[in-house]
Amino acid sequence: MKTIFEKSNNTEGISLTNEIEDLSFLKSSFLRTEKCGLPQVGELEVMRHYKELSDRNFCIEKGFYPLGSCTMKYNPKVNELLASLEGHTNLHPLLADEHAQGALKLMYNLQEALKKITGMEAVTLQPAAGAHGELTGMMVIKKYFESINDNRKKVLIPDSAHGTNPASAHMCGFEIVSVKSDNRGQVDMVDLKRLLDKDVAAIMMTNPNTLGLYEENVLEISKLMHDNGSLLYYDGANYNAIMGYTNPKLMGFDVVHLNLHKTFATPHGGGGPGAGPVGVVEKLKDFLPVPVIDFDGQKYYRNYNIKNSIGAVKSFYGNFGVLVRAYAYILMMGNNLKEASENAVLNANYLKEKLKKYYDLPYDEPCMHEFVLSGDRQKQFGVSTLNIAKRLMDGNAHPPTVYFPLIVHEAIMIEPTESETKEKLDEFVDTMIQISKEVEEEPEKVLSAPHSTPVKRVDETLAARHPDLKFTL
Ligand SMILES: *Cc1c(COP(=O)(O)O)cnc(C)c1O
Repeated sequence: MKTIFEKSNNTEGISLTNEIEDLSFLKSSFLRTEKCGLPQVGELEVMRHYKELSDRNFCIEKGFYPLGSCTMKYNPKVNELLASLEGHTNLHPLLADEHAQGALKLMYNLQEALKKITGMEAVTLQPAAGAHGELTGMMVIKKYFESINDNRKKVLIPDSAHGTNPASAHMCGFEIVSVKSDNRGQVDMVDLKRLLDKDVAAIMMTNPNTLGLYEENVLEISKLMHDNGSLLYYDGANYNAIMGYTNPKLMGFDVVHLNLHKTFATPHGGGGPGAGPVGVVEKLKDFLPVPVIDFDGQKYYRNYNIKNSIGAVKSFYGNFGVLVRAYAYILMMGNNLKEASENAVLNANYLKEKLKKYYDLPYDEPCMHEFVLSGDRQKQFGVSTLNIAKRLMDGNAHPPTVYFPLIVHEAIMIEPTESETKEKLDEFVDTMIQISKEVEEEPEKVLSAPHSTPVKRVDETLAARHPDLKFTL
């Protein structure tokens, strides 16, 4: 396929100077002295070009996208429409509060809704992503301990936690201590007790963990931590696993972040903006970033007067468009948020049970929103998980997350999400079974996959090691 620059011809796609012939009002130093080199093709050709490009891409509108941990579900398009209303997109962040009452009310109401959903006593909407929420939450924890003159340095992180957890705690200056998982994929309680001492500031837990398993001992863990004077951080990126059934407060957590760009109607994984709101219990309220959106009974306002605030973690108040989508989604779903979790968990268990005869399932337990298979059995035939992932693309499915979590060999992490039908799940099962047969009978077919995509096998590391970012004709 040719690039738009190669397609460029002598057509004048659009003339920017048609209406303003006299440019003398501009300082001459602002004017170009030569053409800027933009490609020029007619309107129809532009349209065809970008349609063709988008057709080469895989997306949720095209097929099944079981990318574990990323919640690639269908997000109702009506939320996009609401986020793109002119009153939302043309709002200037420096407007005085009295001129932005609607937007402030929306953010306030979203904070209130997230307080209910998480059980927490205060929420900030400012962080721009999940990992950013983690960093914010850990900064809050750090500042809390500073405020009581306690110099704890360590943070416990189970080896089944998401990889961003240790990174965030480390960026905050904490020392990371890894806690082992037991043979059922749960936090190893003996190891946890061995590692717990007065230097432990907090534990960061992903629950369900990255094996998709609910931590059965979570109440015992929160008691142990609190008795030790430590705090608990909840990675709630995959909140569609528990929404409406339980919440981090009931489990004894002090801080939680959510990924609005997973559970709450903004697509994840597209590289676009996200939002990672953080909720905290009462005693950590005064440490949240400024501004917090408040209501004085008459008007909504940005409150910068937070006693022990860690300061701002992002310009203004966060990614407003993402907040609009989340608020609309929550209003639309109401009590059915619980049903979304129910279906996410049901779909994952359905796939797990259908596939475990054909692929190894290292932790054969009821799962939450996702589960992790191993390609170990197929490896004996010389076919790796990577090859299986590539072959899935021929079956009109996006490959699952692979080689993560690290504690499973040849990991295949599958998250069907709540928005798929049984028919679609069955189609995926059939494809996975067919691939398992091919591995034994005609492995070459899998090893040389994908066969049907516009781009075949790519060098996995070349683009990262030798980025080629410049196009020359
Ligand atoms: C996606 C995810 C994160 C990180 O979220 P980003 O928005 O990508 O920074 C953290 N924890 C878990 C469990 C996740 O699934």
